[in-house]
Formats: sequence, C-alpha cells, structure tokens
Amino acid sequence: MKNIAVIGSGTMGNGIAHTFAQFGYQVQLIDISQPALDKAIVTITKNLDRMVSKDKITEADKAVTLNNITTYTSIKEGVQYASLVVEAATENVDLKLKIFKELDEVCPDDTILASNTSSISITQIAAVTNRPELVIGMHFMNPVPIMKLVEIIRGYNTSDEVMAFIVDLTKKINKIPVAVNDYPGFVANRILMPMINESVETLYNGVAGVKEIDTVMKLGMAHPMGPLQLADFIGLDICLSILNVLYDGFKNPKYAPCPLLVNMVAAGKLGVKSGEGFYDYSENRRAEHVAKQFV
Ligand code: NAD
Repeated sequence: MKNIAVIGSGTMGNGIAHTFAQFGYQVQLIDISQPALDKAIVTITKNLDRMVSKDKITEADKAVTLNNITTYTSIKEGVQYASLVVEAATENVDLKLKIFKELDEVCPDDTILASNTSSISITQIAAVTNRPELVIGMHFMNPVPIMKLVEIIRGYNTSDEVMAFIVDLTKKINKIPVAVNDYPGFVANRILMPMINESVETLYNGVAGVKEIDTVMKLGMAHPMGPLQLADFIGLDICLSILNVLYDGFKNPKYAPCPLLVNMVAAGKLGVKSGEGFYDYSENRRAEHVAKQFV
C-alpha cells in the first residue's frame, strides 16, 4: 500500500494526512474547498515545525513528509491510485452517504474505504456501496499526530481480512488500534458522552458549579481536563449531536441530552469555537488579539 487518499482537510483530515505522510505513504488530500486545503498545509507545516523544535523529527523528515502530500479538489482525480481512502469530511449522514457512493464508483475495485466518523453507523455507510466487506471505521482521536488510539470499527459486513489489514496498518503508523463492533457511539463516545451529559445534569440540578465539577473529576479521578471543559473543547453542538445518535440508536432514556445542554446549543454557546460554553473564552481571545499587535 503506497497511496492513501484522505477526504476532508479540516481538523481531523489534516492530522490524518500528516500522520500517514510522516510514515512514508503518498497522501492525496482532498477537499471541496481550496482555502481549506491551503490552511491544512499551513497547519501541517506548523505541527511539523513543532516536532522539529522538540527533536522528535529532523528538518529532512519534515521536508519528506510535506513532499508526500498532494492536494486535490476533485475526489475522482484524488482517489484514482488509492489503495485506501480515509474519509474525514463534515459529520453529516447525507454527505457521507453521497461521498461513499461516489467513492464506490470511482475508486479501483479493491480500494478499502474507511470513515473517521464519530457517530454514524459504518454498516449504514457500507450499505450504499457495492463493496461493504471493504468498508470499515478508522476513528482517530484529536489531535491526530499526538493521540495514540485509533478505534477500528467492524461494520456488519466488514471482512476479517480488511479488519486485520487495517489493524496492522494502524500499528505501522505508530498508533494503537482497538477493534470494536459497530453500535452507536462505538466505545469512546458511548462512554465519554454520557459522562459529559451527567456532568451537565449535575450542574443543571445545582449540585455544584462548573469549576467544582471539573475539579472533582480532575483531582479525584486524575482526568487531565474536567468533563465540562472537555465538552467546551469538543463543541457543545457535537456533544449534543452524538448524544442524540446514542438516544435514537438505543431508544434508552439514559442517553437523553440534558435540557441545559440543549438550551446552550440553541443559544449559540458552543464552547471554545463560539467564545463561550461552560467557560468564557472571549477574554482570552481579546488578550491574544491585543498581544498580537505587539508582535
Ligand atoms: P472539520 O469541519 O474541521 O473539517 C471537515 C472538512 O470536510 C472541511 O474542510 C470541509 O470543507 C470538508 N468537506 C465537506 N464536504 C466535503 C466533500 N464533499 N468532499 C471533500 N471535503 C468535504 O471537521 P472535523 O472536526 O475534521 O471532522 C471530520 C470528521 O472526523 C467527522 O466525521 C467527525 O465526526 C470526525 N471526528 C472529529 C473529531 C474532532 O475532535 N474534531 C474527532 C474524531 C472524529
């Protein structure tokens, strides 16, 4: 396997492209947006620079990595030689089904099609293709170049050979694969999201404040970040949408999103990306902005 196409060059796609390219694969990075591709290359370059400054890689490794990445705005052109496609486009069922239909039509017959989806069923995605045995989930964690875990999701029809192959490939890029079956939320989000939801519920019920809840989990459970702060980083809209996938998928009230979370998303308080969630990020941003004027 030499050529790996990555679809979507946002937060996850640029990290996935970076990682495969760093381990010697030729990466075709595809996005519908040229500015998104340009931004991805800037981000990858910055992340590689940081690795050079920490002596994790050399300047030569950085040059080779960047050289291994080619960008495309057309799926058809980008995937023509790909042995594997990793799709990391926006989390939207209709969009993913459309992309996989197209991939099935334009990729070579033996190309493995993987999705980095956080919550959409791999079996449902595979069902729109004529090669469901070659469709699999590769759920990387953010930030991809740093985080070791990849959840490998076996769809209903994914073949044993494809599972074994992707597990092996994941080890080759110095990550740790964990094989899981295709049920809502897989493992990571099935456990993480109810914990976040329960933290919001604890706040909503007035048991304790934001800082108190996060402090209990940080100091008491040795979590590097409290669950409410983590929710702010993930995006409260993303948390809500994954909880809805769990709730719809299992029809179990224990996954019902807390009304406070629903209200905050409706009010546009999405966490770090909107400047406010459980914490207020606007002051930090202002300080950063003022600081930049003196640089
Ligand atoms: P993002 O919004 O940062 O990037 C998505 C990119 O997809 C954008 O650049 C957009 O232009 C591109 N895109 C949209 N439609 C496209 C199309 N038809 N063809 C090609 N490109 C297209 O999103 P993200 O956070 O990188 O998430 C991508 C996927 O990874 C989602 O499925 C998400 O659930 C999953 N994921 C995200 C995280 C995370 O922490 N952000 C973690 C694990 C998995």
